[in-house]
Amino acid sequence: MRLALLGFSHETNTFAPTPTDYQQFEASGIARGDEIVRRYQGSHSTVAGFLEASERFGFDVVPLLYAQTEPSGMITKHAFDRIVGEMLDLLKQNGPWDGVLLANHGAAVSEEYHDADGEIATRVRALVGPEVPIGLALDLHGNMTRRMIENVTVTTFYRTNPHLDPAPRAIECAELIVRTIKGEIHPVQALETPPLVINIVKQFTGEEPMKSVMADCEAVIARPGMLSASVAEGYPYADVPEMGMSFLAVHDGDPLAAREAARWLARRAWERRDQFIGDTPSPTEALKLAASAPRGPVVLMDVGDNIGGGSPADSTILLAEARRLGVRSYLQTLFDPEAVSRCVAAGVGSTLTLRVGAKTDRLHGDPVEVTGRVRLISDGQFEERRPIHGGGRYFNAGTTVVLETTDDHTLVLTSRRIGNTSIEQMYSLGIRPEWKQVVVAKGVVSPRPAYEPIAAQIILVNTPGVTTSDLSFFSYHRRRRPLFPFEQDAAYE
Ligand SMILES: [Zn+2]
Repeated sequence: MRLALLGFSHETNTFAPTPTDYQQFEASGIARGDEIVRRYQGSHSTVAGFLEASERFGFDVVPLLYAQTEPSGMITKHAFDRIVGEMLDLLKQNGPWDGVLLANHGAAVSEEYHDADGEIATRVRALVGPEVPIGLALDLHGNMTRRMIENVTVTTFYRTNPHLDPAPRAIECAELIVRTIKGEIHPVQALETPPLVINIVKQFTGEEPMKSVMADCEAVIARPGMLSASVAEGYPYADVPEMGMSFLAVHDGDPLAAREAARWLARRAWERRDQFIGDTPSPTEALKLAASAPRGPVVLMDVGDNIGGGSPADSTILLAEARRLGVRSYLQTLFDPEAVSRCVAAGVGSTLTLRVGAKTDRLHGDPVEVTGRVRLISDGQFEERRPIHGGGRYFNAGTTVVLETTDDHTLVLTSRRIGNTSIEQMYSLGIRPEWKQVVVAKGVVSPRPAYEPIAAQIILVNTPGVTTSDLSFFSYHRRRRPLFPFEQDAAYE
């Protein structure tokens, strides 16, 4: 049994001003053949799950091409055509196949295709023909479409946010494909897409309201003959018709049972819709709470600069306000290659005054003038072995500087745009975030596995920016209407 492994994974923030081009995918590493195994085996990612499944279920996996890069703006037509073109050429040249395993995200948007994942699924199906089972493993932040589902045999989404289960979901997906190839099962899928958006600050699956939504999903999986079920929270920063939540059920042979289960999940979530609306404190409120908390560290989630959602990683909204309020013992990262260069030129131990942050655009505050001592210069590389959001292992923040400012702020200046999903980002620089009073983590849910074990308290902050939780900030042109909560009178029949 011989299965192809391929993928094109991107979460596209259509409101982010910088397009995602071929060079950005290449900088993140487009992996081909054995390079895929070297890079991903032993991690906690979807690709690692597919690789593990080949050993567990005894099939030959042929890794062809896997491309991904950090969430960012619209994928250029050139990048889509070149990468997907190469991927499909490899699929064609190396066939025929008993099955195909596809690792995508579900929220990819290119200049040409608002449903880029659906376009890829369609092309893969056209190439291998109607008889070859295709497994599609997606992130739960996808804006799922019928086109994605109808062109593949089995689809799975992560069922945790933060994402701690990409590998187990990929194994589940691969197992269902293997059983389909053997003729043991006949999966039928149903996708339900009620006109419903869940605010980004309500998406932690360990807490209500998502805890109950995921419990419903488990209840569906336990139904007789049900092979799998998934809930997608959706991705609100992509202005596409399918933006919103979706509910998937996969049944062995009975399309009506699949349809009924997907509708039941959607109906139950719809009834909770008032709990899906955001309600988070302002930067000033959050910083005052954090500074006066009896015990630190208080971790402030910078929701408006959620790097995992496509923001620039250099917001100074919280930093500027912390300075204004005189908040001390404060730690945060900033993407600022220019400031890094200046600090490197000055050298370790020197003190300098410079403007940091907010250099990408005008949506994330203004550069802040600080005076500080360069404590450390690093190559920015670190390794994480714990299971963290997304399952990555090797990280590269580029040349990185630790600047200790006269305000008692520790600023970690990076040359690459990188999220705060691993505590090793700090430990590798000799920083103990557990000894700080206030720690800023840029993100909403993704920093939780890294910071929850040490946080005295976590506060989600309503900061402005391209990933703000206040969706009225964006002008949507392509989303469905009506859609709750934009249109409060939206109905789901
Ligand atoms: Zn996600």
